[in-house]
Amino acid sequence: MNSAPGFSMSNFAALNAELLRVAADLMLPAYCVSCSRSGGLLCLGCASACRAAPRRAHPAHPPPGFPTCIAASAYAGVLRSVLLAYKEHNRRRLLCVLAPMLAIGLSAALQNLPANERVLLVPVPSSRAARRHRGGDHLRPLVAAALRHVHVRQPVGVSSMLRAVPGARDSLGLSAVARRSNIRGRFVPRRGLPLTDGVSVLVVDDVVTSGATLAEAAGTLRGLGCHVVGAVALAAVS
Ligand SMILES: [Zn+2]
Repeated sequence: MNSAPGFSMSNFAALNAELLRVAADLMLPAYCVSCSRSGGLLCLGCASACRAAPRRAHPAHPPPGFPTCIAASAYAGVLRSVLLAYKEHNRRRLLCVLAPMLAIGLSAALQNLPANERVLLVPVPSSRAARRHRGGDHLRPLVAAALRHVHVRQPVGVSSMLRAVPGARDSLGLSAVARRSNIRGRFVPRRGLPLTDGVSVLVVDDVVTSGATLAEAAGTLRGLGCHVVGAVALAAVS
């Protein structure tokens, strides 16, 4: 089969996978992912309750190297339900709700940086097992979509500079200390890293809980010589 110019077979495979996801989504009955009323993936009442309110994320015991982090919202209520449905139940159409919220967090962080500073957003990577379980990477498309809603003076790009190596357990239920040891050494650089001289790096994650994941990702990037100026999350537990 011939590919269209500039289109590889992996592009087709990715598009087909996305089509399957959308088709599966359309075939499911639409109940609000937050309150379970029928009528749509997110009812009007819940949609109107899903609002960004940027704040500093303050984990109870921030681990060493935890970067200054702005979260777009608290990890609670409707947003929690929407994020879980998007991330764990493959309801990818909810991207249109989550992306503008993350964009508000990104804008709040970018406003604190000099206007002429070049900025690279680095999403925290998921493990291969998590991607397989979830039907793909949930964070990178969210960051890319959010960036389309961000209007700032700085040139801003997205780079998946890190990848996650296998070995970490699901962190659900682990103590803060156990989370840190669980995630230590789990991020490594991808090949063909972009030049980051003179570039400020913002690490981006979906949820901040103990802060262990962001601290590990930021520490790995600093070790690669990156100038990490902070982090942005969609939501924070505290
Ligand atoms: Zn609802």
